[in-house]
Amino acid sequence: MLLYISGEGERRSDSNKICLFCLEEDRAVVFKPCRHLCCCHNCLPNFKNKPCPICRTPIQGSQVVFLS
Ligand SMILES: [Zn+2]
Ligand SMILES: [Zn+2]
Repeated sequence: MLLYISGEGERRSDSNKICLFCLEEDRAVVFKPCRHLCCCHNCLPNFKNKPCPICRTPIQGSQVVFLS
């Protein structure tokens, strides 16, 4: 499984809104407390009890955001 860590994979203009976990869906969930936007709502269960893939901060909560 590919997991892009800060910077990698952000060269293409459309890749920085793609979910870091499945690389298919648009990112739609912000982690708390670090506020990184890195996964889609489908992948949210996969991040339960795991650190943020970008900054490794333990995830204490999440918030779904809607980008239009
Ligand atoms: Zn996803
Ligand atoms: Zn983070």
